[in-house]
Amino acid sequence: MTDSTLPPATYPQVTSLPADRKAQLLSGQNFWETEPIPEIGAPAVKLADGTYGLRHQSGRHDHLAMFESDPATCFPPGVAVGSSWNPDVAARLGAALGKEAVAQGVHIVLGPGINIKRSPLCGRNFEYYSEDPFLTGTLGTAFTRALQAEGPGVSVKHFAANNQETNRQTISSDVDERTLREIYLPAFEQVVTEASPATVMASYNKINGVFASENPWLLTDLLRAEWGFRGAVISDWNAVTDRVAALRAGMDLEMPGGTAAHDDDVRQALADGALSSSDLDASVQRVAALVKHIPVARPEVDYDRQHTVARELAAECAVLLRNEHDVLPIPGNVRLAVIGEFAETLRYQGGGSAHVNATRVDQPIDAIRDLALENGVSVAYARGFTIDGGADDPAQLANALDIARRSDIAVIFAGLGEAVESEGIDRPNIDLPETQVALIKAVAAVAQRTVVVLANGGVVSLEGWHDDVDAILEGFLLGQGGGHAIADILFGRVNPSGRLAETIPRRLNEHPSSLNFPGEQGHVRYGEGVMVGYRYFATFEAPVRYPFGHGLTYTRFTTSDLRVELTGDDTAQVHIDVTNSGDRFGQHVVQVYVSTDAGPVKRPIRELRGFAKVGLEPGETTTVQIELPRRAFAYWDIRHSGWVVAAGDYRIQVAQDSHTVLDEVAVSLAGDRIVTELTMDTPMGEWFDHPQVGQRVKDTLGFSAVEVSPEHMAMMASMTMTQFVNISGLDIPADALAALIEASRPA
Ligand code: BGC
Repeated sequence: MTDSTLPPATYPQVTSLPADRKAQLLSGQNFWETEPIPEIGAPAVKLADGTYGLRHQSGRHDHLAMFESDPATCFPPGVAVGSSWNPDVAARLGAALGKEAVAQGVHIVLGPGINIKRSPLCGRNFEYYSEDPFLTGTLGTAFTRALQAEGPGVSVKHFAANNQETNRQTISSDVDERTLREIYLPAFEQVVTEASPATVMASYNKINGVFASENPWLLTDLLRAEWGFRGAVISDWNAVTDRVAALRAGMDLEMPGGTAAHDDDVRQALADGALSSSDLDASVQRVAALVKHIPVARPEVDYDRQHTVARELAAECAVLLRNEHDVLPIPGNVRLAVIGEFAETLRYQGGGSAHVNATRVDQPIDAIRDLALENGVSVAYARGFTIDGGADDPAQLANALDIARRSDIAVIFAGLGEAVESEGIDRPNIDLPETQVALIKAVAAVAQRTVVVLANGGVVSLEGWHDDVDAILEGFLLGQGGGHAIADILFGRVNPSGRLAETIPRRLNEHPSSLNFPGEQGHVRYGEGVMVGYRYFATFEAPVRYPFGHGLTYTRFTTSDLRVELTGDDTAQVHIDVTNSGDRFGQHVVQVYVSTDAGPVKRPIRELRGFAKVGLEPGETTTVQIELPRRAFAYWDIRHSGWVVAAGDYRIQVAQDSHTVLDEVAVSLAGDRIVTELTMDTPMGEWFDHPQVGQRVKDTLGFSAVEVSPEHMAMMASMTMTQFVNISGLDIPADALAALIEASRPA
């Protein structure tokens, strides 16, 4: 699809352009396009959002979706794709989006959004996949590969540690190195190293005081030198403050159209040597190379077909949280009461730059009526409340209660309005509107059975009403096909298979981020470290409403015969049998976690390191195989600035969710041999434990001959050798210590 007649991927010719011209090429010619380069026959490259559907503005433009964009298919947003736990869903979405981009003349799609859901309050959580980096990275990689296979490039965003909207353009995310490496960077690393995205978008925020778009460590040392990124870095819209610092850091393309002042800054910096011409040339070449994403032909897409894809994908994403008395699926010949304005006005996406002008929207009530007819089910509908939270109307509530009383099953459509979940704002709490909670409780009190279907981009609290209802189907935001998808699940045409990609806490103040969100005085401290989301709740056995990974189905799955094979240099292969022991087709998610306390750092009790979704007919069994590479066992070691597998015992766990282990196998890994050079300031504990000289240290101090109590050893452990020598009164020859230090050097 990519035009082979266009210039090749690197453009030595652009380096001979005059400096003024080069400076000009490094920012857009307008809001959505790069500068054309007629000198090398390169037309302008067109960029458009977004993460789950195109926001291509061929008319008036802006970056907060205040002006309308061209009609496009609204596929399930990131929150839904995350809940699918299925890379095929992400890939099908990526491919469909790529086709639509080609048809609409868009060359770079500004997605996927792969930031970690650090807090349930983040206003853009609806665009992001998960609180877990491996799940996020795996889905982002599948999306990127599939979209780019259609020809356009992606812009994986927002790089990095952009986990809130409050003060997003100025806040400094203050994160320690290990946490960055283990939680906030791996998804980007996975997409970059496995899917070669055309561009990476540098985020608005600062990281430890340095703007992401001006951060040489982030954009050059890490992204390019360490991960091998070959594409262009682009700025988030209006993120660049110091253009020269940004260029020097490796931030190639400033979007949207840069200011003339920035071009002047570049020229001046070149003239006075603050910017090297090789840095400038490298950036210009990387920007010019984007032209390869302009296709020769622009085949049209069939928007009806795209809608069907949106609907099929949506059906894989909803999560059945609760299903007492098997109230779902809805059987034939019952009386149904459908309540809640969301049933006639589906909430299916979020606000801001991701907002799609959907080609059409399936409304749940229509789809329910169609399926009800086929199943001999009668349907009564009452609005019950209004989405915009307008004044309570007692007549509406009375009507809802009336139809609920006369029904066998009441289905309430509740959730959050789009106004509260948007780019640029974080939510103040995780509550459902009070009117809706009151309505749920009132309906549940009079109905024989009550089902709640939820629509929300970030998690909402289920407290106060959870136990009153029989079933809860968490739809999150399902895109324009969501109405049909929900009806299909309610009536059992589709067996729900979504799993939570984030924990549903009981209360906001029990969430690990809550002490440090959204920060103060320009800084947000990532104080929970690596204990993000389920890593915290599971490690500290803190109660949650529903754990990460939870999700029910209409059939029954059993897993058995877990086998773990060590396959080489601290790598393993997991095999497990999965059987559908129920009576209908369904999909099961095998979740593999690794648990260990080996090594010198505090580890979460378990971390997701592999997963697979498998579809099985009733009675069918399959063996699922999951690879665990070295990284699955490693932690980031700040002393050695690298990934380290600690020698020791590991448990490989297959779990129903992050809190419920079904089976586990223990393995022992040789790990990396970490040798730290001793100094007189090294604590004694490390002298004693040193792999090369530990025994000699004890011999030299005479500790091998006499019995030293564990209490004394513990007291000594934290003293440096200097302090020990001073306080112990032992006559330890300086040359003996010098010899030990010498012998402690890594071989
Ligand atoms: C958002 C980006 C988006 C860009 C262009 C910014 O406000 O943060 O995600 O791609 O606008 O619309």
